[in-house]
Amino acid sequence: MKKIALLLLLLVVALVIGVFSLGPAYVERTMNWVSPHSPYSVSERAKTLHASLLIGDWHADSALWDRDLSKEHDYGHVDIPRMQQGNMALQMFTTVTKSPAGQNYDSNKTSARDNITSLVVIQGWPIKTWNSLTERALFQAEKIHNLARRDDKNFMFIQSQTDLAGFLERRLLNPGLIGGLLGTEGSHALDGNLDNIQRLYDSGFRMMSLQHFFDNKLGGSLHGVSGLGLSEFGRQAVKQMLALDIMIDVSHSSENVVRDTLALSDQPLLVSHTGFHGHCESPRNISDSLMQEIAQEGGLIAIGFWDGAICDNTPKSVAAAIQYGIQLVGAGHVALGSDFDGSITPGFDTSELVAITHELLESGLTEPQIRLVMGENMLRFLQDNLPQT
Ligand SMILES: [Zn+2]
Repeated sequence: MKKIALLLLLLVVALVIGVFSLGPAYVERTMNWVSPHSPYSVSERAKTLHASLLIGDWHADSALWDRDLSKEHDYGHVDIPRMQQGNMALQMFTTVTKSPAGQNYDSNKTSARDNITSLVVIQGWPIKTWNSLTERALFQAEKIHNLARRDDKNFMFIQSQTDLAGFLERRLLNPGLIGGLLGTEGSHALDGNLDNIQRLYDSGFRMMSLQHFFDNKLGGSLHGVSGLGLSEFGRQAVKQMLALDIMIDVSHSSENVVRDTLALSDQPLLVSHTGFHGHCESPRNISDSLMQEIAQEGGLIAIGFWDGAICDNTPKSVAAAIQYGIQLVGAGHVALGSDFDGSITPGFDTSELVAITHELLESGLTEPQIRLVMGENMLRFLQDNLPQT
C-alpha cells in the first residue's frame, strides 16, 4: 500500500514538473506558429533596398511568453537573432494582461473567464501577478528591461527622445542593434486606478491602448457588448496619459471611444495593429472614414500581418493592405503593426520581412513610400511624441 502511495506521489510530482517545465513552450507552440511555406522569392533590388531601410513595428506581444528573446527559437515570431536577420530596428513590445475565454471579434463579456491567469500560473510568474493586471504589465516590462541588461550589445531599451537619438547614433556603428519600447494592450492594466498610469510610466511604458477584447472601466471595446464611448474615468485616464506624453493606441477600441479620444486629444493617435475595413471587411477593423479622421489629425495606422486584419497572411496581402492604406490616408500615415507573438498565424516571422519589401516594390510603390511605411513614419512619430528625457 505504501509503495503504491509513493508511486502515485512520484507520478504527481513528475506531472507537475512536466507541466511547469514543458507546458509554457508547448502552449506557445500551439498559439504562435507560422503558416508552412517555401522560402519567398526576393529580387536583388528588394534585398538591396531592404538592407538600407530603417524598419519599425508597433506591436508584438512577445513579453507574454516564457521564451528567452536573446536566443533564436524555432517557434514564436520574434527574437533578437531573427529580428537581426529581418533588419528590424525598432520594436514596440505590447503587454497583454487579460484575455476572455472564447475570445472573438464580435462580442465578449467583461465577466468572461480570463485565459491569461492560467498562462501566468503555468509560467511561474510571481504570485502578485495572479490577481493584479498592473503587476502583469510590470512583470512583462521587467522581462524587456532584463533583456536590455543581459544583451546590451544587441538590444537597447528606449523611453525618451534622448534614448532614441543615442540609439540611432549607436546603430551607425552597430547595424544589428535593436531598439525596444513598451506599450500596454488595454488599460484594464490600470486595475481601475489612475495612479497606476504613473507607475507604468515609471517602468518605461510610452504607449497605452485603451481597450482590448472587452469593455473596461475606460469605455467600450470594438469587440465588447456596450459599444460605449469614453467614460468619465476614461477621459481622466486619457488626459493623464497625454500629460505624461504617453502615446495613445486606439486598436480594439469601439468607434465611439475612438471619436471621443480624437475630440479630447491634442496629440495624434496610433492604431498599433489593424487592417482597413474597405480592404478587409472584418469586425476587427474600424471604418475607413474614422481611419481618415485619425490620419488627418497626424495619426499613424499600423498594418497587421494576420487574416483577421487583412483577410490573409501572406507578404503579398500585407503589401495590398499597405497599398490600400496609402491610397486612403497617404504614405505618411501607414506603418507596420505585425501583432507577432499575439496568438496569430502569420505567413512569415520577423526574419522574413524582406518579403514585404519585395511585394511592396512589385505592387508599384516608390522607394520613398516604402521607406516611410517600413519604419521612417514610426521613427518620426517617436521623435515627435516621446518625452524629451
Ligand atoms: Zn491586439
